[in-house]
Amino acid sequence: MLRMKIGALLETKEPIFSFEFFPPKNPKEEARLFQTIAELRPLKPAFVSMTYGAGGSGGRSVEWVRRIQNQVGLTAMAHLTCGGNTKDALESTLLSLEKSGVQNIMAVRGDPPQDAPQFQAVAGGFRYASELVAFIRERFGDIFSVAGGGYPEGHIENPSLESDLRYLKAKVDAGLDFIVTNLFFNNALYFGFVERARKIGIQVPILPGLMPITNLGQIRRFMDLCGASIPGPLLSRLEQAKDPQSLLEIGVEHTTRQAAELLEAGVPGIHFYTLNKSPATRMVMLNLAQVSRM
Ligand SMILES: Cc1cc2nc3c(=O)[nH]c(=O)nc-3n(C[C@H](O)[C@H](O)[C@H](O)COP(=O)(O)OP(=O)(O)OC[C@H]3O[C@@H](n4cnc5c(N)ncnc54)[C@H](O)[C@@H]3O)c2cc1C
Repeated sequence: MLRMKIGALLETKEPIFSFEFFPPKNPKEEARLFQTIAELRPLKPAFVSMTYGAGGSGGRSVEWVRRIQNQVGLTAMAHLTCGGNTKDALESTLLSLEKSGVQNIMAVRGDPPQDAPQFQAVAGGFRYASELVAFIRERFGDIFSVAGGGYPEGHIENPSLESDLRYLKAKVDAGLDFIVTNLFFNNALYFGFVERARKIGIQVPILPGLMPITNLGQIRRFMDLCGASIPGPLLSRLEQAKDPQSLLEIGVEHTTRQAAELLEAGVPGIHFYTLNKSPATRMVMLNLAQVSRM
């Protein structure tokens, strides 16, 4: 069993690499997920994380986190959402994670379910991620390393970058050890975000989250959901791609450039949104290894 708190890992000077997965929907997807994890494992991720289904439909996410941590033997981070969960339900999930040796939590509010226009807290639940973070600290002290989400382009529901950042500061003050950013395709957005965050006193590491684009339709849906933008020149190159392989190569080349520039600038690491597939992330990591040898 691999026990490691990510907050402590981020205190070392070497950048870390991590991979995010989402819960599989059926046995076939489950088999593919664990195949992907096996394929990415040789890249020695510092940790891997598993998202929690929208609207609190994430009970099984926790099972997979346990399996990754205790059977596969990788340090795992469990995402937990306020959405769909009462405080008591969250407490019992946290207790069972603690019991199985999982020491890392990504505490998020959660998106509204697809059929609901707005996020609704359940009775006896939390309205904002900061309330969940405060609860984890109050009830569990330092047992877990706790992360939260940050939005280089601002959160989609809050038109004011400044107020969004103030709420992020409150979330950090509630007890975050580090922040993982939403995906972004233009590093200037990340650098600007970090600068603004530091100016208002956010001191914790801010891990950039990158997603190599491998499917244009899928990425457009993500953009609508999470409010991230694709730079015009990148979008036209992707639109002109002749076939899926050319599109993958453009996506990988772009993420490689982004990651190389971020690492050069001294970021604490790179968190890859893998979409449960290994080829693009592997290609980027191999490209980075070549760049660092030059
Ligand atoms: C790294 C990462 C991982 C994610 N993992 C998951 C996952 O596993 N499952 C899932 O369903 N979703 C996940 N999401 C998506 C996330 O749930 C959504 O983006 C959600 O809409 C916001 O979550 P949050 O934790 O950032 O919310 P919060 O930090 O609670 O912020 C939500 C909104 O409320 C505003 N706000 C915050 N505090 C206050 C306050 N006190 N008063 C008024 N307004 C306030 C903020 O500005 C923002 O607009 C993830 C996002 C990121 C970046």
